[in-house]
Amino acid sequence: MNKKGTLIVLSGFSGVGKNTIITQVLAQRPEIYYSVSFTTRAPREGEVDGVNYNFVTREDFQRRIDRGEFLEYAEYNGNFYGTSLAVIRQKLDQGTDVLLEIEVQGAAKVLEKMPEAVSLFIVPPSFEELSRRLHARGTDSEETIQKRLAIARVEAREVKNYDYIIVNDTVEGAVEEFFAILTAERCRKDRRIHLVEGV
Ligand code: 5GP
Repeated sequence: MNKKGTLIVLSGFSGVGKNTIITQVLAQRPEIYYSVSFTTRAPREGEVDGVNYNFVTREDFQRRIDRGEFLEYAEYNGNFYGTSLAVIRQKLDQGTDVLLEIEVQGAAKVLEKMPEAVSLFIVPPSFEELSRRLHARGTDSEETIQKRLAIARVEAREVKNYDYIIVNDTVEGAVEEFFAILTAERCRKDRRIHLVEGV
């Protein structure tokens, strides 16, 4: 039990800078396993199949649902996103920490099935800043951006269900908060009480 890896569930509004933070986190801690999700969304420029996502067709995605391959899946902005269960189980059992970057509906399903997971939500310093960052990214149409902002307003209602909130003002600050949370989680008494049992 004590040797099991920590399941880290990370969510955040679209455009808040999740990818940048995750890239920094993984660069500093390559031993964390980042779960590559499946999606029916088209790749954005620069995204690599098998690295950012496993990009699949709707038919392929549906087959995986039918075979029960997903720990969770959800529809977001007209596309499907899902987390494959087998690899995550295996990594956690090996004692490896696993990072999932998923939206709020999927996160709720994971937390229901695996309540021992630690959940983090990344917020921008303000909602205006989120809009500014989405426009600055320059990868999505105005219509898509407006949809993403509308989704963010709905998602904001779910943030109360998360264990921690990370503010992404600067990337360095957000990464520091991420690691501080991981350290605190590692120090939880249920992970360490065995050290004093039977003394
Ligand atoms: P994007 O299209 O911007 O890469 O991602 C859209 C949303 O889908 C983000 O909020 C992201 O966290 C979420 N997402 C990515 N992978 C998964 C997944 O496997 N399951 C669920 N439920 N959401 C995911």
